[in-house]
Amino acid sequence: MTSWKLVQKSKTILEKERGTVQKPWGGKISICLIYPNSYHVGMSNLGFQTVYQRLNSEDDVVCERAFLPDPEDLLEYRKTKTPLFSLESQKVLSSFDLLAFSVSFENDFLNILTLLDLARIPLESRLRNKKGPLVVGGGVAVFLNPEPLCDFFDFFILGEAEEAIEEVLDVCRQSEKGKEDLLRTLAGIEGVYVPEFYRVAYAGDGRIGTIETDPGMPRKVKRRWISKIDRFPTRSNLFTPDTEFREMALVEVNRGCPRGCRFCAACFVYHPFRNRSLSLLESLSREALLEEGRIGLVGAAISDYPHLLPLCEEILSREGRVTLASLRVDAITPPLIECLRRSGARGAAIAPEAGSERLRKVLKKVYKDDEILKAIGTLVESGLSPIKSYFLVGLPSETDEDVKAILSLSKRIEHQVASTRANEKKTWKLILSVNPFVPKPATPFQWVPFEEVGELKRKLKILRNGIRAEKNLRMIHDLPKWAYLQALLSRGDRRVGKILMAAHSHQGNWEQALRETDLNADFYVYRRRDLDEVFPWDFIDHGIPKEKLKEEYLDAMKEAGIKIEQ
Ligand code: SF4
Repeated sequence: MTSWKLVQKSKTILEKERGTVQKPWGGKISICLIYPNSYHVGMSNLGFQTVYQRLNSEDDVVCERAFLPDPEDLLEYRKTKTPLFSLESQKVLSSFDLLAFSVSFENDFLNILTLLDLARIPLESRLRNKKGPLVVGGGVAVFLNPEPLCDFFDFFILGEAEEAIEEVLDVCRQSEKGKEDLLRTLAGIEGVYVPEFYRVAYAGDGRIGTIETDPGMPRKVKRRWISKIDRFPTRSNLFTPDTEFREMALVEVNRGCPRGCRFCAACFVYHPFRNRSLSLLESLSREALLEEGRIGLVGAAISDYPHLLPLCEEILSREGRVTLASLRVDAITPPLIECLRRSGARGAAIAPEAGSERLRKVLKKVYKDDEILKAIGTLVESGLSPIKSYFLVGLPSETDEDVKAILSLSKRIEHQVASTRANEKKTWKLILSVNPFVPKPATPFQWVPFEEVGELKRKLKILRNGIRAEKNLRMIHDLPKWAYLQALLSRGDRRVGKILMAAHSHQGNWEQALRETDLNADFYVYRRRDLDEVFPWDFIDHGIPKEKLKEEYLDAMKEAGIKIEQ
């Protein structure tokens, strides 16, 4: 049975899109690319769009999309017992050859189970029959640590997928074999990880003892990365009014970041830092301007792009407007801000991360307070407001003094702005975006514990109370309980799959799932890891040796005054 209402809704969504690819299926490899969150969130993701475009560029491939239905559609799917279908042709997901999940955030893991369930596909790969679609996962959350998802996927592509996709398709094209043989051949591709060929044994204390591999399987799976980044121009190709980036085309400028802040996964897993050439970016921007009048330049290290100003000026000279996601404090210059102002930008964002110079040094984000004040002064003088300022709480060695330093820095900014704008009537706002720090795999802080939820709440309260009387300051923050789950899912091993299953069977009630599973989630979240501990993700070669990360960690802990037994 298929709900007419849901089919109609898909058609309405498609009518509003530009760039949709619709192909006849005959004789092609059919792939459903799935984003495990809403259409709005998925369509705002440039990586998701890139894979869609990449797969459909192959003549013998048809790639369609599916998303987590909005709450009212989810009810309709359940009420009418409609199996989940794709957006483009409304074909049920079980009729595709391959279901490819693009996973950017750990907090979307549970949605993957919801989607498989809606598609009537057994959740666990061992229970799926040989004829059904293969289920593959990729995306940054997966290549940091796919282990909590192992039970649900047949294989993963770890790292940047652009080149690996070609090789995976080649295997699928030639394959007449059964699922087991196909997976063995796929496992021979660099970056492909087939969990069933790896066995994890646990020691008596619950930590990982050994990771054994089947004969012929690599002990370390190398994550893929693109050495010649210009080979894969990346810009928005699909346009809809229903995204975060409405009326904007995104162009990816660079990957990785040369700065090496010790908490930052974007820096370490996308290592090495790579810039695209100016000529390519100019031509991508020209193409993108035919679609939308505003170009959003994206990349973790936009400010490190050596030709950023000429690129912005080129866009403006073509009557386009430009948006930059976030600016490095020491890269805020009047000519760059002038480009943003001419583009009609209202606000801007910076990321000091910690309130005190001491703590910023531990993070290796070594801005002086005066540099931050100067940067914000330049932004405000140019009329930009609101200014969003990102901070983390729960950082290693953080004291209440460090938390209060966020307040005093913000108040100094407020004071400075008030004195320079004494005669101006227009108000301005500083938005403190404060998030609990989650130590991520493959970074120097992978050994660090997550801060107790109660402590995080207390620190957030200090900040909330501290800004209450300040009319130009506002604060937004993530809930510590969601950050706790993010820490569990990003740092967990295969056993955490059981918690996901329990959370799924209790319709997302995590508290009940955690209560009834015989696993102690705190073991994954709150424990400082020993220096010699085998991490669940240690079988991945993320591109930077563990010894190097360890050195950075020890340097950071020394600066933080935390003694680590060696
Ligand atoms: S936090 Fe920003 S500046 Fe630091 S490494 Fe990450 S992307 Fe680079």
